[in-house]
Parts: sequence; C-alpha cells; structure tokens
Amino acid sequence: MRAPPLATMETALRIQFWGVRGSISCAYPDFLEYGGNTSCIELEILGQTIILDAGTGLPWLGNDLLKRGVTDVHLLMSHFHNDHTNGFNYFKHIYIPEHTVRIRAALNYGDLTVEDLIRQQLSENLHPVQYEHLPSTLESIGFHAGDTFDLFEGVHIKTYMLTHPAGSTCYRIESEGKVLVYATDTEHTPGQTDEGLVEMMRGADLVIYDCTYTEEELPSKLGWGHSTWNEGVRLCKLAGAKRMAMFHYSPDHNDDAVRALELEAQAEWDGVFAAKEGMVIKL
Ligand SMILES: [Zn+2]
Ligand SMILES: [Zn+2]
Repeated sequence: MRAPPLATMETALRIQFWGVRGSISCAYPDFLEYGGNTSCIELEILGQTIILDAGTGLPWLGNDLLKRGVTDVHLLMSHFHNDHTNGFNYFKHIYIPEHTVRIRAALNYGDLTVEDLIRQQLSENLHPVQYEHLPSTLESIGFHAGDTFDLFEGVHIKTYMLTHPAGSTCYRIESEGKVLVYATDTEHTPGQTDEGLVEMMRGADLVIYDCTYTEEELPSKLGWGHSTWNEGVRLCKLAGAKRMAMFHYSPDHNDDAVRALELEAQAEWDGVFAAKEGMVIKL
C-alpha cells in the first residue's frame, strides 16, 4: 500500500479520520487495519474544529478534543441515517456546560428542523438523557442543499444534494486556497455522470468518496444509495481533482477486501488511497 499523501510546508487544513466504515460499526480483528467505526472526520482549519458526521468515531474524537481543550466545534451532517448519527449521544461535549456544538444540516425532512432531528436522536425511547436536560449549548442551523455559506471567516462552503434515500449532502469546503470535498452516501447510475457532483469536485485537493460497493455488487444494491471506487475515480478525473480517499466501506468488506480494492484502484489512478481510522492528511 502506498503511503498517505505528504503534508505541504504550509498546512491550511488538517484532516483526521475517526470513522471510515459505512452502514454499521465492525468490532472484529479483521476490520482493525482500516478501522471499524462509522463516518466521522475531524477538520482543523484556522484554529477551529469542524466535524463531518457523527458516526461511532465521534465519541473517541470527542475524548481527544477534551484532552486538547477544544470546547467549541462545528458539526456538518451529511444526513441522519444511523451510521452518521450513532456517535452523537456519546459525544461528551453535549453533557458539559460552556461547551458548544454548532450543527448544520440540510432541511430535507418535510417540516422537521435540524433541532427536531437532534431531539429525536435523544428521545426517551432511544436514550436516557433528553435534549432539554443537556447543559451544553447546542445550535442547530438548517440550510437548503445547493446553498453556499461562510461557516466562519475564511471558510467557504458549497453544498449539493446527492442521490441517496432521504438525501445526503455533499460539502465542498474551501479555505486558504485549499479545497476538500466530502461526498459520501451517493448512488451513481452506470453510464450517467452526476454533473453537479463533478462541479463540486472541480479542482479539489482531496475528495472523500463513498466506496461502499464493488462494481460486481452494485447491480444487486440498486436504490440503496451507494457507489464504487471506480465511479469515484472517474468523477475525480473528469473534475481534475488531485486525490481521492476511498471511504464508507461495506461491513461485508474486511481488511483483506478493502486492501484488494485499494490496490485495484491504485492500478487505475495513483491519486487514490483508502482512508483509515487514525490517518491524518494535511493540505
Ligand atoms: Zn452511510
Ligand atoms: Zn445513508
């Protein structure tokens, strides 16, 4: 396996993977090389912390942030399927006064607000502690997929709705001349190009892409909302993206399977690598 890309001299954006698995966490030894936790990525930009998704990697990121004294974070949600939310209730920041979590997600659930979705997550049938008892500050801000906004000064974000049951939001995060694209939970139609997604990926330094299935598996999973490394690489080449991190591996793919897919992908394009839990990338 090739080494992850090297850091440049000036780091504008630090990325750390805390969960790379799709669908469900995999707590078995043959998943430990790439990692068994579900979607959670930490970004450090201009001294602030942005988290992409609240999968089972989030509690472990949270513990690390507490050790580092980080009390305020921005959380960008792709969507609210379980594998992207399961870590939220065990993110210690939400139980500590004077800690702040600013949550952004697309308003894509009828009349439900982002706060409604978080409240559901903490409802009494699902969790012992309810939203109204949390002593932290939780801010929930909805947007419409397709919107662009400045998350804070120096960080510009473009959003786009991916093809996924109940939708999933793609984020293009631009800061200090660097571009990161988070595109997970998206289904492609073979032979058709998602032109909007190509525009989101245009010239990106790194694209994190849904590589749940193989091309052989895809026909039996139509409508499940996922893609392949082959399509990710194809889109990255069309968009002139520099590198792609394979992400959101199927729980049916253990380390041997992911390693084989990574080697196949790298034979096709040397810009691709498989994301691993703990991996740090600096742009
Ligand atoms: Zn997912
Ligand atoms: Zn999903």
